[in-house]
Amino acid sequence: MNEQITQADLTADQHLMVGGVDTLALAQKYQTPLYVYDTGAIRQEINAFKAVFDANDVPYQISYASKAFAAVAMYQIAAQEGIHCDVVSGGEMYTAKQAGFPMDRISFHGNNKSIDELTQALDYGVGCIMVDNFYEMQLLTDLTNQREQTVQVMLRVAPGISAHTHDYISTGQEDSKFGFDLNSGQADEAVKLAQAAPYLDLIGIHCHIGSQIFELDGFKMIVDKLVTIFARWQTTLGFYPRVMNVGGGFGVKYTSEDQPLLPTEFVDAIVKETIAQTKAQKVPMLEIWIEPGRSLVATAGMTLYTLGASKDIPGIRKYLAVDGGMGDNIRPALYDAKYEAVLAKNPTLPSKEVVSIAGKYCESGDMLIWNQKLPATQPGDVLAVLDTGAYGYSMASNYNRNPRPAVVFCENGHDQLVVQRETFADLTRLDVPLVTPEKIEN
Ligand SMILES: *Cc1c(COP(=O)(O)O)cnc(C)c1O
Repeated sequence: MNEQITQADLTADQHLMVGGVDTLALAQKYQTPLYVYDTGAIRQEINAFKAVFDANDVPYQISYASKAFAAVAMYQIAAQEGIHCDVVSGGEMYTAKQAGFPMDRISFHGNNKSIDELTQALDYGVGCIMVDNFYEMQLLTDLTNQREQTVQVMLRVAPGISAHTHDYISTGQEDSKFGFDLNSGQADEAVKLAQAAPYLDLIGIHCHIGSQIFELDGFKMIVDKLVTIFARWQTTLGFYPRVMNVGGGFGVKYTSEDQPLLPTEFVDAIVKETIAQTKAQKVPMLEIWIEPGRSLVATAGMTLYTLGASKDIPGIRKYLAVDGGMGDNIRPALYDAKYEAVLAKNPTLPSKEVVSIAGKYCESGDMLIWNQKLPATQPGDVLAVLDTGAYGYSMASNYNRNPRPAVVFCENGHDQLVVQRETFADLTRLDVPLVTPEKIEN
């Protein structure tokens, strides 16, 4: 049996469960492909983070990086758990507002926020805008001056530290499109500009060094680097940041080969390093903010598919095709991300063969899983691809004009539809037919 599954995840008939609900019943009720979440598991992850901060008795804030999975119901869960949320676009900000999420607990990120988006953030009264660059600093200074409206800001800095992870998802090194460079003095200049702007309330400094990080070193290095700079800024600029935001990126276990630290181990290390460094460098203790995205939702979610065609190339490979693929999970094609699948009707059956799971999209690269062991399967069997809760739905597309799947939340044996399945009518809803149906010959 897949080591991520335990007997507690199975019904009496050995069907895979999610949040206490039988996945075969879910596939029947809502059709496939289907994203399903155990929302109890999301709450547990949030509470595990809170517990580490509380045990260390330090001021903190947890801000869910909602790009990992954004939907009205997800913002509602974050609101119920009393945490903050990061948004990175007008659309995410709008969705959070539609969910009734408290806007003063929103942080607005992005390296090219438009005037419209900044105006929207000020209209909504978002809690904090993460200023990324000099252009944005000027836009926001002008806007807040015109409106005579104060807004809290943090500066995003690029600390020149790279986490050991995939190039496309590492963002903390100097050569990055994000943030004010620390080493060349750009960040000092940005602090001065924010201090001089009458309506910008500079509460702290933010950095985010990457995603799916498996080691503590990167986080310890950014704490050391930031606290050292804060000590210098106290004397050179009279600037005492109240908040140090170290971003997210805590690695999660997608396959049995991944051996990440517990997300809470990262936080414990960050907190202890911050306490030690602030003492040593005579910097007042900082409020520590973290921005977990993936680690809150990845392993809480899975995708249910129905098996269809198969192709066995003797001596080469056996392909099993599912009714979804790169349109609902682009990560294998985009990042070479790895997943594991189990047969929903009985994950405990002994493996019979090595198969590769293909999608239904017209691309050879539309593969979800290469070479994993599975029991014997038949067309119509439900396959559960595990740990798809982060960057699955949120990166979904209508490629090949496939409607995007529905999303269902499960908790304590109850299921609730939270995003409807798209229909064909949704696919043409925004299309505008030609005004002249006849071709005009000249
Ligand atoms: C993407 C992102 C995060 C979350 O990263 P995860 O790997 O999902 O934890 C946090 N902060 C910022 C600024 C981000 O861009």
